Amino acid sequence: MKILHVSDLHARPAWFKWLIRESSKVDLVCISGDLLDLRVDCFNGSAEAQIKMVLNQLTQLRAPFALCSGNHDSISSRGVESARWTEPLRKRGGFIDGSVFWFQDYKFRCVPWGEPLPVVAPEDFWLIHAPPLGVYTSQAMDGSSHGCHELREVCRSAAGPLFALSGHVHSPRRFWGMLGRTISLNPGWRDHPFQPSSIIIDMSNRTVTHWPTGLLGVKNATFRFAE
Ligand SMILES: [Zn+2]
Ligand SMILES: [Zn+2]
Repeated sequence: MKILHVSDLHARPAWFKWLIRESSKVDLVCISGDLLDLRVDCFNGSAEAQIKMVLNQLTQLRAPFALCSGNHDSISSRGVESARWTEPLRKRGGFIDGSVFWFQDYKFRCVPWGEPLPVVAPEDFWLIHAPPLGVYTSQAMDGSSHGCHELREVCRSAAGPLFALSGHVHSPRRFWGMLGRTISLNPGWRDHPFQPSSIIIDMSNRTVTHWPTGLLGVKNATFRFAE
């Protein structure tokens, strides 16, 4: 099974188009939050326009997909902040916030932004926007840390998922880190006109390959994980 993991697409139409093309090469697409860009000074249009574009693009994916919300996806409605706007994707076969599902031989959970975490994680994969605190994936290059304290506690108790697929920290020190039994992954975010940074997890040969974008093109780095 091959998983394509991306994060923090922040409503860039070209990146969604790239994702549609790449999705035909994998079994499952996982998007770990911040699909929208809700900064006041963003150039990607109003929240409504972004939602329309993102929903339209995601329904064109050529593989099953799962997502979790990030801090940029929560819209206030009747005093409640949530990513309810992703709900139509459920009817199209997408796995969204709150979904727990089996895919091939593995169990997945999509953890909503801002909600308490389950204490134990019998699942193999969590999609969770913020990586655990205290791991390279949540540390920015300037040394500041933006990870999730709660997730760190779950992972440190060795009751965490096998993989935590995250984003949120746009320039992490490394694309992967380990805590307890959990491998934390964060593809990172680089300003590239056509494609986002991405990660391929290949469960058949137990490799994780990072494809960071950059001014000098796209280079890759791979590591192999134990059974
Ligand atoms: Zn982000
Ligand atoms: Zn974020």
